Amino acid sequence: MLTPAGPVRTCVGCRRRAPASELVRIVGTAHRDGVTVLVPDPTRTRPGRGAHLHPDPACYTLADRRHAFGRALRLAGAADAGEVREYLARLGTPDGGAVAPPDTQGRTTDMSTR
Ligand SMILES: [Zn+2]
Repeated sequence: MLTPAGPVRTCVGCRRRAPASELVRIVGTAHRDGVTVLVPDPTRTRPGRGAHLHPDPACYTLADRRHAFGRALRLAGAADAGEVREYLARLGTPDGGAVAPPDTQGRTTDMSTR
């Protein structure tokens, strides 16, 4: 009980270190056509390697763009993080929920305007 903050982990999105209790653990579970399905593990009880991420869509975006989940979990192939994104969206945003959800798939918008 000398370390109430518990273990420290690095967010795979923004790469900042934070107490594990402030981060969402993400694990790879089922495989679908060679694609590993990533799911949030809020209770941190699932077996296997975990990636840690702030419960923040911005960190998710950073991690997804860098393929950080696959690297952190040492996945050989592609990863489907859709369930993680939905989980974060459901948590809402601490700033008041004004963030608009991506109405395209969120993958094709990067190059269009800049
Ligand atoms: Zn982060």
